[in-house]
Amino acid sequence: MAIERTFSMIKPDATQRNLTGKITAKLEEAGLRVVASKRVWMSRQQAEGFYAVHKDRPFFGELVETMTAGPTVVQVLEGEGAILKNREVMGATNPANADAGTIRKEFALSIGENSVHGSDAPETAAQEIAYWFSGIELVG
Ligand code: GDP
Repeated sequence: MAIERTFSMIKPDATQRNLTGKITAKLEEAGLRVVASKRVWMSRQQAEGFYAVHKDRPFFGELVETMTAGPTVVQVLEGEGAILKNREVMGATNPANADAGTIRKEFALSIGENSVHGSDAPETAAQEIAYWFSGIELVG
């Protein structure tokens, strides 16, 4: 399988509970390498832009509120099949449906406060990385 890069976020519900290290450890244990990382408190405009694909969904307002409620850690992860691997380690969107051992099963509070984001495909990974990072910030 090819070496890929994917975009990951540790969401405000998790940074506020001081879970950045525990979540990053799970990603690293799965073989993913953090090649870029920074802590940002996103503005409403940044959150609306990042989640624009969901703008017509009924939960959009709640999503933007949740994502601007505290700091977020944005990361780029690298590894073999990194996009799918990250999604596996994250677990299902709703923690009630997430498999044992996944980040969302262990740490998420609800479907809205579900601790992490991860890109779902190569195209979205490239777009999401470019949304938050410039090329010189990626250090493999
Ligand atoms: P993901 O790729 O697993 O993060 O899931 P989606 O792309 O479907 O949704 C993006 C994010 O929107 C999720 O991670 C949740 O934070 C939020 N979300 C999705 N569905 C719901 C919902 O039914 N209610 C609320 N409050 N938030 C939701």
